[in-house]
Amino acid sequence: MAKNKFGLAKPLYILIALLLCGSAVFFILRLEGETPLFQLENPIHTIGSSYTLKGWASDQKSGLRRVWITIFQGGKEKIIFDQTFPPGGFFGGDAVQKQLVSVEINVDAIGLSDGEALLRTAVWDHSYRGWGAGNQGYAEHKILIDTRPATIDVLTRSHNLNQGGAGLAIYRVSEPGTVNGVQVADNFFPGYAGFFSDPNICIAFFAVSHKQAPKSQLYVSATDPAGNVCRTGLAYYINSKNFKQDNIIISDAFLRRNIPQFEHALNMENSSASLIDKFIVVNRDLRRASNITLENACKKSEPKKYWEGPFLRLPHSARRAGFAAHRKYRYKGKTIDKQVHLGIDLAATAHSPVPAANNGRVALAEYVNIYGKTVLLDHGFGLFSMYGHLSRIEVARNQVVSKGDVIGFTGSTGLAGGDHLHYAMIVGHTFVNPIEWWDPNWIKHNVTDKLNEIKRAKVY
Ligand SMILES: [Zn+2]
Repeated sequence: MAKNKFGLAKPLYILIALLLCGSAVFFILRLEGETPLFQLENPIHTIGSSYTLKGWASDQKSGLRRVWITIFQGGKEKIIFDQTFPPGGFFGGDAVQKQLVSVEINVDAIGLSDGEALLRTAVWDHSYRGWGAGNQGYAEHKILIDTRPATIDVLTRSHNLNQGGAGLAIYRVSEPGTVNGVQVADNFFPGYAGFFSDPNICIAFFAVSHKQAPKSQLYVSATDPAGNVCRTGLAYYINSKNFKQDNIIISDAFLRRNIPQFEHALNMENSSASLIDKFIVVNRDLRRASNITLENACKKSEPKKYWEGPFLRLPHSARRAGFAAHRKYRYKGKTIDKQVHLGIDLAATAHSPVPAANNGRVALAEYVNIYGKTVLLDHGFGLFSMYGHLSRIEVARNQVVSKGDVIGFTGSTGLAGGDHLHYAMIVGHTFVNPIEWWDPNWIKHNVTDKLNEIKRAKVY
């Protein structure tokens, strides 16, 4: 075997040379100067009594060596996270280059108090820089520790409610910036500031749905930016209502006239299903989809009371179906479906002009499946009126209309047995009985007297 002047076999010499070369490359790579990072998942401004801090520590080159997170307050450093990570191997494997950090911060347990503090994060990598200490990424965030929830002072003294009806609560929240409103069982109705000059006074229109039992729980809640929640009870009484039962007889002539228009929306153009089976799909699935379209259009309401006085009812009209009527659909002597009617049907002469029931802004003016050509008006603070089965729409979205303006003409578009207006009212996302809003006495006792009383008191 050939030997060189060091007396080593040639393959061994090559191996040592390669190892030296490799080590040099490894050492040079490990001298990288890239700063490791710690990025918070969400910016932190305020933390409540408990908070989950989440963030990503990362170093794309030599990998993470240590992640250290503290809260500094009153000259004291409270370590809330400190973890070290092993270096990668010779070929750079196994180094941790990205790590999700999730820490529960319990303000009491850590010994922090309400007030300003500094969140400090530091990350080191496995670089040989800094005489082996590695590169360091450091950041400070000013935070506010706030463990006290806002307080709520309910200003409206009584809330006499009807099942399927609406109510108004007015209350003062001790601090600004809260998410507040009235909770009725599972439904939350947001409160709005802006009606009174005091920005801490909020008004919330809310609804007791036709499905809700008179024992439903109601309260006002306010959640501050730190996540602290305050709940305050309301004085209320819910009158239970018996809703009418209606039988709707479905004829073949009705099916032939009404069903083909929906086949496209149901992807049933080529289906061999019978018309009555198609009707059931329209009545269930398209009804639900249509109601969701309306509820979505009600998600944004202006913090402005557009409306004034009682709502108008379609002139010279007769009531054909009531609010929350429990309908049984019957075909050839059998009940084939059950649905609840969420508006009032009003019939006048065919193609009667439909007036805007009150001042408002057009939130929707389009074809909505079973309701046909539909207009939805936003009257502000979460209150809406809806007009369905129109033959013609005379307004466009975002247009501001006055009480009595003609917004369209009655018709029988959508799923309708004949020319009529389907009139509905919505509070938040819940259909309510329009009769209350047609009644000047109900409006006086349940809305305007309450608003005026607080305006007059002037203590706010
Ligand atoms: Zn109707």
